[in-house]
Amino acid sequence: MAQSSTPFSFAALKPSRLRVLMASSEAHPLIKTGGLADVASSLPAALRQLGHDARLVIPAYPRALRCVRKPKTRCTLEVPGCRSPVSIVEGLHPDHDLPIYLVDAPEHFAREGNPYIDLTGRDWGDNAERFMLFCRVIVQLAEGIAAIGWRPDVLHCNDWQTGLAPALLDDSPQSPVSIFTIHNLAYQGLFDRATFDRLNLPPSLWSVSGVEFHEQMSFIKGGIAFSDRVNTVSPTYAAEVRTARFGCGLDGLLSQIGHRFSGILNGIDRDVWNPASDPLIAQNYDINRFELKAENKRDIQREFGLARSEDAFLLGYIGRLVEQKGVDLILAILPELLRQEPKVQLLVLASGERQTEQALLRLAAAHPRQVGVFIGYDEQRAHRIEAGCDSFLMPSRFEPCGLNQIYSLRYGTPPIVHRTGGLADTVVGATPERLADGTANGFLFDEPSPESLMQAISEAMHLYREDPDGWRQLALTGMALNLGWEASAKQYVRLYNDAIADRQAPFSGMASR
Ligand code: ADP
Repeated sequence: MAQSSTPFSFAALKPSRLRVLMASSEAHPLIKTGGLADVASSLPAALRQLGHDARLVIPAYPRALRCVRKPKTRCTLEVPGCRSPVSIVEGLHPDHDLPIYLVDAPEHFAREGNPYIDLTGRDWGDNAERFMLFCRVIVQLAEGIAAIGWRPDVLHCNDWQTGLAPALLDDSPQSPVSIFTIHNLAYQGLFDRATFDRLNLPPSLWSVSGVEFHEQMSFIKGGIAFSDRVNTVSPTYAAEVRTARFGCGLDGLLSQIGHRFSGILNGIDRDVWNPASDPLIAQNYDINRFELKAENKRDIQREFGLARSEDAFLLGYIGRLVEQKGVDLILAILPELLRQEPKVQLLVLASGERQTEQALLRLAAAHPRQVGVFIGYDEQRAHRIEAGCDSFLMPSRFEPCGLNQIYSLRYGTPPIVHRTGGLADTVVGATPERLADGTANGFLFDEPSPESLMQAISEAMHLYREDPDGWRQLALTGMALNLGWEASAKQYVRLYNDAIADRQAPFSGMASR
C-alpha cells in the first residue's frame, strides 16, 4: 500500500473548539482575595475570545450568587459527605460572556467575607470538608452531568482547593484531561490523617505516590501528582520551585514530573486596567498624553492627606501583608527614606498580619504628610494608587507571577522589584545598556534585603530627578507592552492539546503520569 504523503497526526483527533472547565475557589469580581481571582476570570474569557467553550465553576458564596447574571438552578446532586443535596446554579459572568456554575452547598459556602478564613483571621475549621465537597462536584461536572448536558474535554484546576479533583478522577473512564495550575506553592492545603479518614477518600491515596505528604494529607499534591499537565504562572517561578529554596518540600516531585511541568506567565485584563479609559481614576492618560498622569498624583496626595508636592517621589504598595511580600523590608528602610531631600512619600493599601498593619498605621500617624496607609481591601483605591504614584514597590521574597507590577507597567508607574519569579519575567531593569536600547521598564534588585531595596529605590530616584526624559522613556516602555491575556491563553490551548495528544497516543499519556 502506498504511504500517504501526510503522516498521521494526533492533532487531527483534537477537537478544534475545546470545551474547558475552569475550576477555582475565587474569581473576580464574584469573590477575590488575590491574583488567582483575576486569572480565573480573565483566562476563560480569553479562551472564549479564541473560540473555545470555556466555563467556570466556583463555590456559591453569597457574594458570588448576588453577582452573577441570570442565575438559574440547573440540578441538584447527592454528594458524599454532604447531608443536604447540593445545587448547581448556572449564571453568567457580570463582565464577560462566560457561563459560571456555582456550587450551592449552604452548609459549606453560605458565609460572608473571606472564603478561607473567619472574622478572627483563622482558617475555617471545616476547610478540608468544604473544598473536598467542591472537588467532588468538580469531578461530577468533569464526567458530565446529564441535566446539564455538557462535558468538558479539559478540566483546568487551580491551587490546592481544587487539587483533589484530578486525584479522584484518576481511575474514571469518563475523565477529561486535567491541567493543574499552581498560583502559589506555599499554600498547600495540608490536613492531618484523621481528616483524611473522615473525608472517605480511597485508602490507596494515602501513599507517597498519592496525597500523603510527610504524614499529612496534601490537597495540592493531588493536583500535581494526578494531572496530565501541571504549570505555574511564570517560567522563572517554574524553575525556582524545582529547588529546595522555593520548592516548599515539593521540589523533588516537581522535578520528577519533567516535561509535564512548565511556566506560563499571567496576563492582565487590559480593559479593566487601562489608564486611557479607567473610570476609577481622576484623569485618563495614555502614551501620547503621559503628562496628564500628574493630575492623578495630585488627586491621590489629596485623598491621603499627603503634602501636595509635585517634586516628592511618590511610591506605592498594594498587597497582602504576609512575609512573602517583603513589606518588612520597606518598614526597615522607611526611616532613612523619609529623611531624604527632596521628599519621598509612600502610599500603602494592604491588609493581613495585624502587627504589620499596626506598624504601618503608626508610621502614617507619625508622618501624615509623607505616609498614607489604608488598611483593607479596596479595588477602586488600587486603581487610583497605580495611576497616581511615580513608582511601585514589590520587594516580594518570592512571587509566582505578581499582578501589581504588571498593572504598574501598564499605568506608567515603573516598578521596583526583587528579581524573582514573575517579577523577573516582566520587569527589565534600568541598567545603562537597557536604558540605551529602550527596553528598560523598571528596577530590579537581587537580594531581598533592606540594603538592596534601598539601593534600587535610590537608583530610581536618581533617574526620576536627574533625567526626566529617561524616566518618561522608562514609563512609556512599560505602557507600550502587550500584557493582555491573548498570548498566554494561546499557550494554555497548546498545553491542553498536548495533554489530549498524550492521552490519545498509544502507550503514552496515562503511563507517564
Ligand atoms: P497575590 O495573589 O499573591 O495576592 P498578586 O500580585 O498576584 O498577589 O495579586 C494580587 C491582586 O490582589 C492584585 O489584583 C491586587 O491589586 C489585589 N490586591 C491585593 N491587596 C489588595 C488590597 N488591599 N486592595 C485592593 N486590591 C488588592
